[in-house]
Amino acid sequence: MMMTAAQYEKSLRNLNLIVYMFGERIINVVDDPIIRPSMNAVAKTYEMAHCPEHVDILTATSHLTGKKINRFTHIHQNTDDLIKKARMGRLLGAHTGCCFQRCVGVDALNALSIVTYNMDQKLGTQYADRFVNFLKYVQENDLTCDGAMTDPKGDRALSPHQQTDPDMYMHVVEEKSDGIIVRGAKAHQTGAVNSHEIIVMPTIAMSEADQDYAISFALPSDSQGITYIMGRQSCDTRKLEDSILDRGNLHFGGHEALCVFDNVFVPWDRVFMYKEYAYCGQLVEKFASYHRQSYACKSGVGDVLIGATQTVAEYNGVQKASHIKDKLIEMNHLNETLFCGALACGAEGHKEPSGTYCVDTLLANVSKQNVTRLPYEIARLAQDVAGGLMVTLPSAADYKSAETGKWIDKYFKGRSETPMEHRFRILRLIENLTLGTAAVGYLTESMHGAGSPQAQRVMIARLINMKEKQTLAKRLCGIEPL
Ligand code: SF4
Ligand code: FE
Repeated sequence: MMMTAAQYEKSLRNLNLIVYMFGERIINVVDDPIIRPSMNAVAKTYEMAHCPEHVDILTATSHLTGKKINRFTHIHQNTDDLIKKARMGRLLGAHTGCCFQRCVGVDALNALSIVTYNMDQKLGTQYADRFVNFLKYVQENDLTCDGAMTDPKGDRALSPHQQTDPDMYMHVVEEKSDGIIVRGAKAHQTGAVNSHEIIVMPTIAMSEADQDYAISFALPSDSQGITYIMGRQSCDTRKLEDSILDRGNLHFGGHEALCVFDNVFVPWDRVFMYKEYAYCGQLVEKFASYHRQSYACKSGVGDVLIGATQTVAEYNGVQKASHIKDKLIEMNHLNETLFCGALACGAEGHKEPSGTYCVDTLLANVSKQNVTRLPYEIARLAQDVAGGLMVTLPSAADYKSAETGKWIDKYFKGRSETPMEHRFRILRLIENLTLGTAAVGYLTESMHGAGSPQAQRVMIARLINMKEKQTLAKRLCGIEPL
């Protein structure tokens, strides 16, 4: 059954998560003013799946049951699915103006569908059966999954088993007849407290000495022993203020959390990889490739930022200046370049032995490498056009005050036909996207999410066929025969 946004919200209320923020336990997570905008953003993935005009993009047909499911629980069956996934990311980024968090789960599901199958073929294990049972449960209940890959990693020069503190990477600490006990943490977990399930995967390729760390499993997010510590975002406490104007984006946001697993029990039927160190690299690579494509979301957020920039230019009365027009063209050029990459790696996708379609790895890495750069340039141009008022504007409380409001209204008015409050709102939105809570998603997450820039460069170096390129050149100039 595909949940509605209201059913999704209700389902979160049934979870008993242990969440901490600002030194206190948050009992009512769903209604917490700082967390709620991030819940609203995930809820959009449910709401829009019921809109007739978006059904084609946001839903799919389950290859397991033939039923209509939310695309965020779908295993890609062809390149069209992969292309639609990119369109879905852009659409939701544009409607929320932030990270809507649900992509990590679908990317983890697809990566595991490939790797559990490959392990079973080679090793005679039962991982794929367990995984498919879990997948059916996720699809039938339309769950949001946190795809948890990033370990804290301690000393980056040391492998997992060499760390002074053995918990720097998630590992098994005890094997029992009915399951395993695991300990460790996953850092920077996008949407963690808005998720029903956490899918844990290893974060790097491993050797035999690291086999206790070569584990993957899924658990309900409120399993005993899991604690969430919310990450701070720049300007987050503005959400606690009475006047909502200073938020910029009034409705939506993202969140990340540190998820601590303190001796947590995982039943065998939820273990999808156990000490299979030789397959860690494959799982990391598949998840990373899928997730690098998911950053199509940034072109949707870029749409919002470009729209805001054109609007502020009009409010300032500078929209006809040729350099302003050119800056907006440049912003669009960069933004569409981002989208091109996400579409291309989907269009060039291929079928894996499991039947799952996977994006082209090289193009997915090239695409994500663009994402580590172009949003910064788009944001720079937005700030250029917006002007300094974006960061010197007094607070909404001063704007609403009887004593000072009239001066702010008078002196910060742009062209006469636009109410000052509109200029106020659009400047705050640009501030939110380029410096505030949404800049976490639009900028720093673009840099480090789904792997930092160097991770993509390593993959690009590994995947390009340099010999072939050299042969092409040598043939044309006669060093080698045609
Ligand atoms: Fe999805 Fe983008 Fe958020 Fe990653 S950053 S979870 S791809 S919306
Ligand atoms: Fe991310």
